[in-house]
Amino acid sequence: MAISRLLIANRGEIALRIHRAAHEMGIETVAVHSTADADAMHVRLADHAVCIGPPPASESYLNTAAIIAAAEISGADALHPGYGFMSENAQFAEIVEAHGIVWIGPKPEHIRTMGDKVEAKRTAGALGLPLVPGSDGAVSDPAEAARIAEEIGYPVIIKAASGGGGRGMKVCNSADQLETLMKQAGSEAKAAFGDDTVYLEKYLGNPRHIEFQVFGDGKGNAIHLGERDCSLQRRHQKVLEEAPSPVISPEERARMGGIVAKAMADMGYRGAGTIEFLWENGEFYFIEMNTRLQVEHPVTEAITGVDLVREQIRIADGKPLSVSQDEIEFKGHAIECRINAEDPWTFAPSPGLVTAYHAPGGMHVRVDSGLYAGYRIPPYYDSMIAKLIVYGRTREGCIMRLRRALEEMVVEGVKTSIPLHQALLHQPDVLNGSYSIKWLEEWLAAREA
Ligand code: ADP
Repeated sequence: MAISRLLIANRGEIALRIHRAAHEMGIETVAVHSTADADAMHVRLADHAVCIGPPPASESYLNTAAIIAAAEISGADALHPGYGFMSENAQFAEIVEAHGIVWIGPKPEHIRTMGDKVEAKRTAGALGLPLVPGSDGAVSDPAEAARIAEEIGYPVIIKAASGGGGRGMKVCNSADQLETLMKQAGSEAKAAFGDDTVYLEKYLGNPRHIEFQVFGDGKGNAIHLGERDCSLQRRHQKVLEEAPSPVISPEERARMGGIVAKAMADMGYRGAGTIEFLWENGEFYFIEMNTRLQVEHPVTEAITGVDLVREQIRIADGKPLSVSQDEIEFKGHAIECRINAEDPWTFAPSPGLVTAYHAPGGMHVRVDSGLYAGYRIPPYYDSMIAKLIVYGRTREGCIMRLRRALEEMVVEGVKTSIPLHQALLHQPDVLNGSYSIKWLEEWLAAREA
């Protein structure tokens, strides 16, 4: 069966991104939106639009019944969840499939396994991925935790099995703090995720965040599309991402890429996925797998020429991957800046009316955004309003072009993170690629002092 009408269960730039891939494949699109998004660009561009509820996401973009009803009413035969919202909800995926609608995403059982961090780690280990040394599964007994911590060595990090978004983690430096911090982590996890299961890991002092893009056809074939370096983070939120990583050689990419692709093939993984690692002193340590498209996927598209959303739709439609591993070539360098509607230095959200908007252009400049002059950025959702992705034959050329593109970009009426990106692209450590996941917060703190 060929997909002919695709419902996009998301909003903002990613809804537009999916719409564009669908239209380029001759597939009609159905937008869903809350009342706060009636004037959004994704609603304007889609062939059909259905209002699914009031502004709070819990009543609209997270409302299973409303989304399924919208799919039925509009006659959609497939559903793409984008990222966030419903994208990693295994039960939602099952409900979509039970309604005879093609779920453009991984098999629900894989979403479920990878959504539980203890299960995910166990699965990754069994598939041969290198792990951060730590407890083999959940720990609840303080004496057992103390023994494990002693064995792996302090500092250790206590993590919530159901954690996400960097929450439910505690770093512990010595044995005398362990029991107290475990209790704290457990009760915080219980409050945030309804589950107090925790586990232990060695705390890495100064790692980079390096993730591999993978794709499986669900039938035992899988490929990798290289890595992205997302070490520039604030509060575990990525700010700027690049591909390839400045510290990974072509040989290392091929070696590690081969390992992750084989793991996905063995698992029978279907669709797009990202395997996240911490990287320190030349070693990779698996931390988690995201069973969906990532915000930063365009940097991979820029250096490989592969349209990842198109591949997702093809695979969901039962078609094979359109490229083989041998056909994938990594060329040049790409960087993405996440542009948020927020104060560039205090990070306070800045929603409201966009009075003027001008997107940069020129060779190798891509802007994924639903912005337009006269658009009112609603206060209810994520503050990311645009992604600026720039490609260059070399990393230096890419940075020069990115600086030029940021100079051209105009967003008036609200504050944005453009000045932060401009400052970052003049920092020697950023220019020579020597930064870890701690760099941005340390730089911001030093700047303030
Ligand atoms: P979440 O699902 O909450 O995002 P992750 O396991 O992906 O949690 O970890 C989020 C971030 O926390 C990582 O990107 C890294 O910055 C930090 N982190 C996680 N595990 C470790 C570790 N073992 N050592 C040091 N930092 C870590």
